[in-house]
Amino acid sequence: MATWRKLFTSMSAFRALNASCRTFKSSSRGEKDFFKDLESQFRAFREKAAAAMPGSDWSPFELTPGLPPERADIVIVGGGVVGWSIAYWLKRKEGARDALKVLVVEKDPSYSQASTVLSCGGIRQQFSLKENILLSLASSDFLKNINDHLGMINEDPVDLQFNHSGYLFLASEKSAHIMEENYRTQREAGAKVVLLSPSQLKERFPWVNTDGVALASFGLENEGWFDPWSLLNALRRKTMSMGVYQCFGEVTGFRCSISTAETTDGELLNVRRIKYADVRMPNSLEYQPVECAVVVNAAGANSGKIAEMLGIGLGPKQSVSSIPIPVEPRKRFVYVVHCPDGPGLETPFLIDYSGVYFRREGLGGNYITGMSPEEMEEPDISNLDVDHEFFQDKVWPRLAHRVPAFERLKVSGAWAGFYDYNTFDQNGIIGQHPLVTNMYFATGFSGHGLQQSPAVGRAVAELIVDGGFKTIDLSAFDVKRILLQEPLLERNIL
Ligand SMILES: Cc1cc2nc3c(=O)[nH]c(=O)nc-3n(C[C@H](O)[C@H](O)[C@H](O)COP(=O)(O)OP(=O)(O)OC[C@H]3O[C@@H](n4cnc5c(N)ncnc54)[C@H](O)[C@@H]3O)c2cc1C
Repeated sequence: MATWRKLFTSMSAFRALNASCRTFKSSSRGEKDFFKDLESQFRAFREKAAAAMPGSDWSPFELTPGLPPERADIVIVGGGVVGWSIAYWLKRKEGARDALKVLVVEKDPSYSQASTVLSCGGIRQQFSLKENILLSLASSDFLKNINDHLGMINEDPVDLQFNHSGYLFLASEKSAHIMEENYRTQREAGAKVVLLSPSQLKERFPWVNTDGVALASFGLENEGWFDPWSLLNALRRKTMSMGVYQCFGEVTGFRCSISTAETTDGELLNVRRIKYADVRMPNSLEYQPVECAVVVNAAGANSGKIAEMLGIGLGPKQSVSSIPIPVEPRKRFVYVVHCPDGPGLETPFLIDYSGVYFRREGLGGNYITGMSPEEMEEPDISNLDVDHEFFQDKVWPRLAHRVPAFERLKVSGAWAGFYDYNTFDQNGIIGQHPLVTNMYFATGFSGHGLQQSPAVGRAVAELIVDGGFKTIDLSAFDVKRILLQEPLLERNIL
């Protein structure tokens, strides 16, 4: 989209200020006017200086109190970690800081159901697809240099509470060959991973029961876990200080212009161009249409529903428009357990081939654990209640088999969260849909979206502003694969 600038709405306040400065310089008015003008110049300058400070109320938008702006160049639906990361990278683009009006719309100020804050905070390089490995490597670099990106002058440095600790994957006889293939892909992509035989595994982690384990892989660098809230808040604060506007409201629909296109099969398709995003204000029936040039669908588990608002997935059977964006909420339980004689400080993020995982949670003998249910046993998604029987029946037996010390654990807490689950192939969906010319998708990360968010944000900003990927080629994640029904399967999904 090389001509993106043409699409965007009116000039920013900075540009207006610069223009008025030029007028002032060439003014030939008298002394009285000169001082009047000088005063207003100072006022404008003070506003500009205040705007550069974190936490400022300055905004390039014309605002009615309590309502979102009437227009924005880019509306991002969803203020989770993916949405804010995209906003951050958009503002990092050359010239964009002043020229680009970016609005992030978030329906839930408390983030009570957002995947971001209910996640386990893990980052790993041990994926089967090169693109996923590269994304996580780039994100890890971002996280390690977080203060170069998100640090703010006169503020305490950002502390993600990053716990550098490798992921330890265990494979059975049946899955060992997949682990070896993945290992080769990971090494080729630059990830530092080693394979361990059962005896090497036992030597390094004596608390593991190696029964049934044929092979293990362990990450030596760029893996571990961190605090998702800290990342989300740091992204929000920094990005708002760069002029991005945050609005709490729900996107409930879009107003579009429609044109018709014909496929090679002679099928007539309605192609939409979004003109306005309708935002409903919290606890009210008041709506504000926001005129916009580009919309980003970063609504996490709700992204499939946002696509439906544009008719995607609702067309007649067999037509392109009948294929939905296959992202839906899937409930996952996380249990907090206490076990004083458990594996201890050097616990990695262990992923057993049975599906169970655990990692240390702080100090003092606490761990978090869980596993994904079978497809046929997916829990009810109408609430975030925790199923404690699932722990007793499914999780604990597997956990105690792998680490006998866990026979003596006590459950001290639990929570549930929604995966932004891509039912088609459990991978991110990044790019545009042919039936909506100006919506970009960044969704469906299915359990690895937190760790990939820094690199995904950069990739989506490249797509929007540069018209293509510049740093990592993520074209494999395009919407096209869904329309062509060609899944891109990731074999290391938890
Ligand atoms: C239990 C659990 C464990 C996980 N563990 C990990 C892990 O270890 N590592 C990892 O990388 N990932 C993990 N994940 C996955 C990760 O949390 C997600 O992939 C990631 O947070 C997705 O971010 P997001 O911004 O797309 O979604 P969200 O954080 O869900 O943000 C989307 C936002 O959009 C808002 N929204 C939705 N609809 C609208 C609308 N109509 N209008 C306005 N706003 C709207 C929502 O309120 C929400 O805040 C885990 C997830 C869960 C549930």
